Amino acid sequence: MVSSAEMRTKKSKLKKAPAKKAARKAAPKRAPRPRSAARGVKPSAIAAGATPARVRAILKKLDEAYPNATCELDHDNAFQLLIATILSAQCTDVRVNQVTKTLFPKYPAPKDFAYANPAELEQDIRPTGFFRNKTKSVIGASRKIVEEFGGEVPRTMDDLLSLPGVARKTANVVLGTAYGIASGVVVDTHVQRLANRLDLTRNSDPKKIEQDLMQVIPQEKWILFSHQLIWHGRRVCVARKPRCVECNLERICYAKDKTI
Ligand code: SF4
Repeated sequence: MVSSAEMRTKKSKLKKAPAKKAARKAAPKRAPRPRSAARGVKPSAIAAGATPARVRAILKKLDEAYPNATCELDHDNAFQLLIATILSAQCTDVRVNQVTKTLFPKYPAPKDFAYANPAELEQDIRPTGFFRNKTKSVIGASRKIVEEFGGEVPRTMDDLLSLPGVARKTANVVLGTAYGIASGVVVDTHVQRLANRLDLTRNSDPKKIEQDLMQVIPQEKWILFSHQLIWHGRRVCVARKPRCVECNLERICYAKDKTI
């Protein structure tokens, strides 16, 4: 038998239920993920050097120095750019351009790479290094493009990431340079180094660096900014002994390994 005290408790619980529901409804929803957030990557704390005013100053200096920065891999279309970018891993663009000069005429269409003789293709791309893995990626990506994407390089990050040998860096290069789609920031070895020297990130993992940059760089600048940092990293802010005396960012840079 239920006592009158228990009855009161039950009644009060029953009364409280709708109130709880209402409170849950009124509670602020979890803050939305920043629009720029890459799927599966948690935004990290913004680096001290990434204040809006300092970021604006850095972008202005980069615009002054490299107004026309662009991708330095030779290509005539999105597919060639994809292949060149796969080949550029751990290799200079100059070397890749030397190889693709004869490679692209020999394999003019995606189907030519898709059904190439692997042993022959390995030798064709050998000077770019890691030629066995790169051959697998080139053939795998080409085959998928031919068989699942109608011979066209896809235009979305998810579809590009489904291609063998394609990660965010390659996908960002293709989407940004070939299609003008700002899907993220290209984080190669130069961007990785410069983003740290300029204190736009405190991370070393490329995915986290990209996330940090996407949070502080306006989306309309992502494509150009990637090229500008790469150009600056190749020409001035080189890995060993950066040429700080020639650098127009010197006054706003406080990198530990500055040379002046
Ligand atoms: S001042 Fe030196 S370290 Fe800083 S961005 Fe310029 S070249 Fe790089």
